[in-house]
Amino acid sequence: MKITDIKATTITVPLEAPLRHSNGAHWGRFVRTIVEVETDEGITGFGEMGGGGESAEMAFRGLKSYLVGHDPFQLEEMRFAICNPTASLYNNRTQLHAALEFACLDIMGKKLNVPVYALLGGKVRDRVSFASYLFFRLPDEATGQGEVRTIEQLVKHCRELKEQYGFTTHKLKGGVFPPEYELACYKALAEAFPDDRLRYDPNGALSVEDAIRFGQAIEGLKNDYFEDPTWGLNGMRRVRSMVRIPTATNTVVINFEQLAQNILNPAVDVILLDTTFWGGIRPCIKAAGVCETFQLGIAVHSSGELGIQLASMLHMGAALPNLAFAGDAHYHHLQDDILVGGKMEYKDGTIAVPEGPGLGITVDRDKLAHYAELYRKLGGYPYDRDPARPGWYPLVPNERWATP
Ligand SMILES: [Mg+2]
Repeated sequence: MKITDIKATTITVPLEAPLRHSNGAHWGRFVRTIVEVETDEGITGFGEMGGGGESAEMAFRGLKSYLVGHDPFQLEEMRFAICNPTASLYNNRTQLHAALEFACLDIMGKKLNVPVYALLGGKVRDRVSFASYLFFRLPDEATGQGEVRTIEQLVKHCRELKEQYGFTTHKLKGGVFPPEYELACYKALAEAFPDDRLRYDPNGALSVEDAIRFGQAIEGLKNDYFEDPTWGLNGMRRVRSMVRIPTATNTVVINFEQLAQNILNPAVDVILLDTTFWGGIRPCIKAAGVCETFQLGIAVHSSGELGIQLASMLHMGAALPNLAFAGDAHYHHLQDDILVGGKMEYKDGTIAVPEGPGLGITVDRDKLAHYAELYRKLGGYPYDRDPARPGWYPLVPNERWATP
């Protein structure tokens, strides 16, 4: 089989409300690039990448001269064809590779009539658990609804998500308000949901000292882990030496070089595997094997996803024996998806692993066209700016907190 074409389409899909984070916000919608890899056998595979626009579409088009004629089953060859580690000093294509890898796995599964998890060693579970992903939110621009700012709003939002989706693990995305305020928020969640598990993630915004203070103040709670409380491997190492909660990261161990450093001189206990950041599902599976050997924890990370990327997370989660934590997904914040049948459904805080051939999802062409048109109308947005604070940007470690 040979690749005959690569197409990329930027789309934007609305969220229920703008999601705040340490660097700014998702401004009420996600921008994603949907990738289609076509073959000479008439089979098309789908991939997805975060962000988009003309430059992202051009980057995918630019890889056609490398990959047209390539056999989509030759995934290790594709890695070296476009992501040779020394050539990548000049052309960092990790995230492009990830989207193309999803598409090639989709093609392989469709050709062989098996789900992607069967190509990854088979599944050890039928459903993957997810945490409620609690964000501080700005009100929706049109309706004025959806704000999460006060402790009361946060606990109410968490209760609604728990009732609607069945979550029993709650992740608080912080790094927005002063640490003392977010500490009070986190403690309020622990008090309101005493049987549930918790995790806090300020995206590396705290100083080492603030992170230690925060961590020590929550040591007695039902914490899964303390996720990127501060920036940098050595910052994480200093926090880890002073706080009795496992540390976790999706920022400072996102490739094999960093994983090796983390094993030689430990800073992080739980590695959050992101199918985009690591360059695909298969690198995550390889990293999970290294973590299994060294008995480091793993979990499924979310960098924002529509259904194609969610499928990549579900097939990975299905195949990992050492997955001891609920995964993260932004998915429940979306108003819609581009899949036939609409959004995938949660049950008891879990989503079923797709069973159809390939990624097991079918893209709705009308919705793809609709959200591509919406992108043409709205364009992109600056992920690292806050619509509520014009001119603002953070420091690392931050001290320019929003006012609760
Ligand atoms: Mg994180």
